[in-house]
Amino acid sequence: MSSRYQTVLLFGAPGAGKGTQGKILGQIPGFYHLSCGEVFRTLDIHSDLGQIFYEYSSRGELVPDDVTIKMWCQNTHAQTVLSLYKPHDDLLILDGIPRNLNQVKILEEFANVLMVIHLTCPDKEEMIKRLRRRALKENRADDAREDVIRRRWEIYENETFPILDYYPSSIVKEVNAIGSPASVLMSVLEAIVPVQEKHFGNPVSGEPNKTTA
Ligand code: AMP
Repeated sequence: MSSRYQTVLLFGAPGAGKGTQGKILGQIPGFYHLSCGEVFRTLDIHSDLGQIFYEYSSRGELVPDDVTIKMWCQNTHAQTVLSLYKPHDDLLILDGIPRNLNQVKILEEFANVLMVIHLTCPDKEEMIKRLRRRALKENRADDAREDVIRRRWEIYENETFPILDYYPSSIVKEVNAIGSPASVLMSVLEAIVPVQEKHFGNPVSGEPNKTTA
């Protein structure tokens, strides 16, 4: 096994449900979910990094790549030190990173992307409504204002969406993001369970994986 983190990316527009799916997957033995936005949101707003995050996210902008990657590497490493994430046992489910081509290239050094789950949502206006509802529930400054949401979408369309072309089409799986979390989850699991089983043993029984058994 390569020493890079064996990874599946949850990919999609703001509001597509990456965080919802990631959180559920993270509850299943053998999967470890890490959301870049969530890590940023847990920062102390008064810290230097917290201030940088607030400055950019409240405008709907991406945090600069150097800051993001450094924070991501430190956080992921910390999870391994604490044995919360065990790279030899768990498939890493990343959400919210990479967000542009530069991040794709830097991340390649650390993460071996086995699959990209593209949560697709044909109706942009419906997604924008979803984001506004969520902002009210979760008190999120970045999605409370319509102009900020639209800026987030603009950046997604211009910088993030094009990175899909970077990955071989054989590893990109499209999943319709419209529907209940449980129904979307069924399609996500159908795609990623075989990846987990191919690369890892059974996390509960310890049985080896199917390819080495
Ligand atoms: P998210 O919850 O993934 O939508 O992220 C919320 C905010 O965190 C984004 O609007 C960005 O300001 C920041 N952020 C999250 N992930 C990244 C990333 N990979 N690169 C730069 N900024 C990010």
